[in-house]
Amino acid sequence: MLHQAVQFNQQHTDFYFDASFWQLKEMLQPASTFIITDANIYSLHAGYFKGWKTIIIPAGEAHKSLDTAQYIIDQLIQLKADRTATLVGVGGGVVTDITGFVAAIYMRGIAFGFVPTTLLAMVDASIGGKNGIDIGLYKNLMGTIRQPSFLLYDTHFLKTLPEAEWQNGFAEIIKHACIKNATMFRQLEGTSPGILKKNKQQLNELVQKNVQLKMSVVKADEFEKGERKLLNLGHTLGHAIENEYGFSHGQAVAIGIHYAAILSQQILGFKNPERISVLLTQYGLPTHFVFNTHKVMNMLQMDKKRQQNEVHYILLEKIGKGVILPIPLKDLEKLYKII
Ligand code: ADP
Ligand code: ZN
Repeated sequence: MLHQAVQFNQQHTDFYFDASFWQLKEMLQPASTFIITDANIYSLHAGYFKGWKTIIIPAGEAHKSLDTAQYIIDQLIQLKADRTATLVGVGGGVVTDITGFVAAIYMRGIAFGFVPTTLLAMVDASIGGKNGIDIGLYKNLMGTIRQPSFLLYDTHFLKTLPEAEWQNGFAEIIKHACIKNATMFRQLEGTSPGILKKNKQQLNELVQKNVQLKMSVVKADEFEKGERKLLNLGHTLGHAIENEYGFSHGQAVAIGIHYAAILSQQILGFKNPERISVLLTQYGLPTHFVFNTHKVMNMLQMDKKRQQNEVHYILLEKIGKGVILPIPLKDLEKLYKII
């Protein structure tokens, strides 16, 4: 196990890489700890939860809702959780987001930590302190930014991860490589999902590298004034098409990254859109998709990243170097139409 402590503006976070779930027992008191997980993870890994007070929520994004938050709060009241309680979210992005959200509001805020169980949650969703719930179609419309007190990474959980979930994680990993790390981009070109799934050491290293990359971006800009926006590569368009066309998050982001690469070619003279679409395909992700521009523009009107009539779009100068460019919505509509 590798321990790394990181100081954020208001919170200190302990990261435990290459760790085991059993180590939670050394870190927390079962009497004041409340684990939140979803029904799938609970049934696949039931042994882990013995001896812990566990609140089980239904699996899936549809349950990242106020109703589920209310259910968790009701359970906490019944279990007599007080201000000294620690919530531990054991699961994918849905579980970690809602755990962070409930921890932020229960009794005006209690401690929380995460054990992410999907590749996506490991390398992305669990890091950075953003939490929240969806309101109807609008993702993460309600939430706060608050850092967890610890993150424990046990890649053993990934043994049961469905194929589509691997793709979601790889999309964010490729995103990280595109905006910040050309060396990692080349390493990804030189390996494959099949090899990574079998090679625990390679996988642990990749997880750790991605956590550290995201963490350093977040730490430099905890409240998303500048640099952190780079992490939105592929997400402006991605979020707009995800629900509308029923893509998984990873698929939508992959298409978003591909479009961003082509916009980068047109606006900044970026030379490698081809290399990006080849890598996305290598990791089982889609790249091309023809969408209804009018519908997508309507969704962008609601995007949190929109400022007045401009979108802060993330483009690539080269592989490993993302940049932020404000694009007026009017121009974006025209650009989408000609691609
Ligand atoms: P994500 O991390 O993709 O945002 P979710 O919390 O929605 O998302 O998890 C995606 C799905 O994967 C859910 O159905 C969840 O129950 C399931 N899941 C999470 N972790 C595992 C795991 N280790 N093995 C099998 N299924 C898992
Ligand atoms: Zn994402």
